[in-house]
Amino acid sequence: MAQQRGFFFKAAPSYPNAPAGFLDYGPSGVALRGRLVELWRRMIVKRDGMLEIDGAQILPRVVFEASGHLASFTDPFVRCSKCGSVFRPDKLIEEKTGKSVPEKLGDAEYDSLMEKSGVKCLKCGSKLAGTTRFNMMFRVGIGPASEEAYLRPETCQSIFVDFPLLFKTQRARLPLGIAQFGRSFRNEIAPRQGLLRLRELNQAEVEVFFNPKNTNAPRFGWAEGERLTFRLPDGTETTLTVSDAISKRIVPNLLIGHYLALVTLFYEAAGVPRGSQRLRVLSDEDKAFYSRAAYDLEVKIASGWLELVACNYRGDYDLGGHGKASGTDFTVDDGGEKVLPHVFELSLGVDRSTYAVIELSMKGEGDRRTMALKPYLAPFQACVFPLVNKDGLQEAARAIFSDLQEDFDVFYDESGSIGRRYARADEAGVPVCLTVDYDTLKDNSVTLRDRDTRAQERVPISDLSPRIAAITRFPRVRVLGRAT
Ligand SMILES: [Zn+2]
Repeated sequence: MAQQRGFFFKAAPSYPNAPAGFLDYGPSGVALRGRLVELWRRMIVKRDGMLEIDGAQILPRVVFEASGHLASFTDPFVRCSKCGSVFRPDKLIEEKTGKSVPEKLGDAEYDSLMEKSGVKCLKCGSKLAGTTRFNMMFRVGIGPASEEAYLRPETCQSIFVDFPLLFKTQRARLPLGIAQFGRSFRNEIAPRQGLLRLRELNQAEVEVFFNPKNTNAPRFGWAEGERLTFRLPDGTETTLTVSDAISKRIVPNLLIGHYLALVTLFYEAAGVPRGSQRLRVLSDEDKAFYSRAAYDLEVKIASGWLELVACNYRGDYDLGGHGKASGTDFTVDDGGEKVLPHVFELSLGVDRSTYAVIELSMKGEGDRRTMALKPYLAPFQACVFPLVNKDGLQEAARAIFSDLQEDFDVFYDESGSIGRRYARADEAGVPVCLTVDYDTLKDNSVTLRDRDTRAQERVPISDLSPRIAAITRFPRVRVLGRAT
């Protein structure tokens, strides 16, 4: 469906042997992803008074030395000694046993687990052993001297490196959120899960810089009563207010509760009900060594729970590392106190989120499918049909179409029965269909049909623009703003 409707498809589709892990977005995908990012901007970035940047995608070696990526941004891999095929041992073991494998095993532990569970090469059936490590950054050479540099594996490093300059030039105060939407690159070993494990991916990341002694700003108070669902490391699930989560030490402070609630509200506005969201609390074994608390925001799709956002309390690991490596002072003044800020991160996978929004919006009755996207996320806001292709109805419909195109993404369809055209529009998620009929020529009105209720009403042509704008308007949110 995603390919048929122009959402996304495998890159270089004319070449069947093109490598996996690369994706092309078609016209509907570009529009939907763009609107989803705009919703993120409104529900999180603007609402919280964050700064948004767009950093370079190629960064020098020193940045990744300081960040730790050169040493440890690696995945285990094993090469078949018979046929040369390459696999991830953890994925093979998980597929074979149906159980999840802890993330921080040593190479020898992978070998013995493969032996124990009887994992064999998927291509030739040979025994596999000799797990080793592969750094997943794409290396590039700058200029004829091929100076060592890398495509960024995550967008956040430029946020950390830019922090002192932004803090100063933007006259910022703690706590401060800095956000970025853009591409990241990961040389994944043998990606096989289509959209869910990409070598070139879109991220929307937020880094919140704060004084660890000051995490109770009044503007965070709204979040205290918000109810969130947590999946605890022991496997149980619990739904409780942010206040209760703080007193039970599931959430370390109100600042973090505020951001967990914000990202939950964002997905709710994107069409993921709260009942289909949970925050998986990472155990100490699954957390990165610098992480003080970590949550994966997961949503329930047909194939199970899918991780969309990594929420990570990173302490002062990032600013400390870059401060030391660059010789720049990363401390800032917070009400007369010199502090090296702590960081809380919301790292959102945009491609996965786009996929989840599409899947969760699909509603079917028999062979009729509707993509019940939130109207403000729909790739097209309206479509225009002439009832029949004669007697001047086409001309009237095209005039309305080109007028609406000024303000909206609209499409025009004159082929097939009206029923077929409604069905096509429903499948494409278009919230509003406008049909031009014989009465239009007499009274300058059209039939407006609502995608979800299928109710029809007559609307004067002069009212169409404001009506469509009202139906497809992004939700209004109270801007919480920055601390002053
Ligand atoms: Zn083999």
